[in-house]
Amino acid sequence: MHPKASGAGKESEGPSNAAYTDEALLADLLANTTELLSFYNRNFRLTHYAARLKGMYGGAVAQGAAIWEIYPSFLDSSCRDEFLRVFQGGSPTSIDLPRQSGEAPRSVFVFGTANGVGIRETREHGGRSAAEEQEHVILLHQATHDVLTGLQNRRRFGERLQQALAAIGGPKPKAALLQIDLDDFKAVNDTLGHGAGDTLLQLAAGRIRDALQDGESAYRYAGDEFAVIQLGKEQPAEAERLAGSLVDAFKEPFVINGIPVFVGSSIGIAFGPEHGTDGEQLMKAADIALYAAKTDGRGCARTFNRSMLLLLEQRENLRRSLRTALERGELYLEYQPLIRPPSSVIGFEALLRWRHPDVGIIPPSVFIPIAEADGLMDQIGRWVLEQACRQALTWPSSLTVAVNLSPAQFLSGSLTDTVAQVIDAVGIRADRLELEITETVLLEKTIDNIDTLNTLNVLGIRISLDDFGTYYSSLSYLKNFPFDTLKIDQYFITDLETDLKGQTIVRSIINLAHGLGISVTAEGVETSAQARWLIKENCDCLQGNLLGRPLDADATSDFVRRSAPKGGRAMEESNRAL
Ligand code: C2E
Ligand code: MG
Ligand code: MG
Repeated sequence: MHPKASGAGKESEGPSNAAYTDEALLADLLANTTELLSFYNRNFRLTHYAARLKGMYGGAVAQGAAIWEIYPSFLDSSCRDEFLRVFQGGSPTSIDLPRQSGEAPRSVFVFGTANGVGIRETREHGGRSAAEEQEHVILLHQATHDVLTGLQNRRRFGERLQQALAAIGGPKPKAALLQIDLDDFKAVNDTLGHGAGDTLLQLAAGRIRDALQDGESAYRYAGDEFAVIQLGKEQPAEAERLAGSLVDAFKEPFVINGIPVFVGSSIGIAFGPEHGTDGEQLMKAADIALYAAKTDGRGCARTFNRSMLLLLEQRENLRRSLRTALERGELYLEYQPLIRPPSSVIGFEALLRWRHPDVGIIPPSVFIPIAEADGLMDQIGRWVLEQACRQALTWPSSLTVAVNLSPAQFLSGSLTDTVAQVIDAVGIRADRLELEITETVLLEKTIDNIDTLNTLNVLGIRISLDDFGTYYSSLSYLKNFPFDTLKIDQYFITDLETDLKGQTIVRSIINLAHGLGISVTAEGVETSAQARWLIKENCDCLQGNLLGRPLDADATSDFVRRSAPKGGRAMEESNRAL
């Protein structure tokens, strides 16, 4: 909506009378009228508006904004019913808007249009001058809206949630609260900078806004947390539908400064009054559901249920005891053999375990995410590295040890120093150490990552790309980063015997890697048919229960001893398996 110059002196530059279209006339009118006019389509989205309205309401006024973002009162049943009557073809009417404390009385005149509805707002100034009134409205808007995204803010959210819960009743008695949290937002902010983080939040707010329908309003609640309140809907179906479209809306990458960034959304849903009769309770329930969505792999939505409380309590207990697990000696490593076909052990992968005094053995997939979230992974990772290197020193010097790195270790900025210190302190040859990283690590800090990997490379340490095939499997990683080994994820190995497409993919990965001078390890080899197929296709190294399950340090030493003179017992077992 660009106001066009129409002063007398500019006539020769301006459009001729003949070309003065309705659209241009409308633009002039809206740019200059003192009326607070706005027009909405049949989806309640703003299509045209007076420039003065924007002056009053700021960021909430934008093409495509929902009517209730500008006039939240239309979500209240009394105003909504009146409004819908006009919307459905009834005669124009004037609706008094509820007054906030300290606010001048306002009313809106709602009239039907060919495309939807138009609204003219009138205000009684109550003694204030027009300029004071405008200032007041802007201040009010600022107090209730988030400057960055234009969505309503936390304060407005709290008010609306209380109102929604108070208004529950009638034929569709539930209010739904959807708590939305962006996955990996922190990584974008930390790595691409706060400017990029702000852009991402604005784009995310836009996607949330676009997914909304009638009776739904969005808020930015804090940092990267958003919320939607849904009223007067068929539940739980409508909340689940909306959550589904919100999750889908975040599947496409956000392009920030020309870089595609994948940031998913996790959603927790709770219903009032079922899960909470006041705002605080309901928010807590939605938050717990959100937490469940995060731990169920993110990028998904979960609805609150009571058993989530139990899980939360368990996890809280785990979290507390993890803090002291390392010093209490509850963490230990197992080692899984890496086999070069047909039967040479070339090294072991160190896999972390936690022997909890009450719970028993807890797998890394459960506690590593907790350790990462609590900032413990840097310390634990260093311990793993040192422990694994010390263990490897007890093996023949031809054997390597592979250690998994978590993104937190990469992001700490001191990884290369730590690794250099550890190999120095332990006194192990650098080329006996292999570090395994996953693509998620690379996603997070592109430029520094190349530096880090190159430094490790120069130190003589080998680097594997773990779980290849499960994330984005971007070929540019293979081009840009100095990998020695690519580990094909078990996902592709499991169905290898029967899945022809899987075979084609694995064959192509092997050929591609070999073409780049990268060695290939197949993970999770469980059957001899899989092993035979992989050997036939020139896979360099096999790992999996067929060839050897992870063993504790002592059992690993036995395994090494048995397989030491070539043809030893352990190797005969492996040979038989193949
Ligand atoms: P990963 O690095 O891909 O490790 C391979 C996982 O596959 C291990 O699971 C291993 O026990 C399992 N595995 C190996 N062969 C077979 C098989 O034939 N069949 C099946 N079903 N599974 C097999 P684990 O030990 O539970 O570790 C899971 C993940 O946890 C690892 O995946 C790794 O990403 C992470 N992890 C383990 N230890 C560490 C560590 O010290 N630091 C970090 N940052 N991550 C670790
Ligand atoms: Mg690994
Ligand atoms: Mg793996």
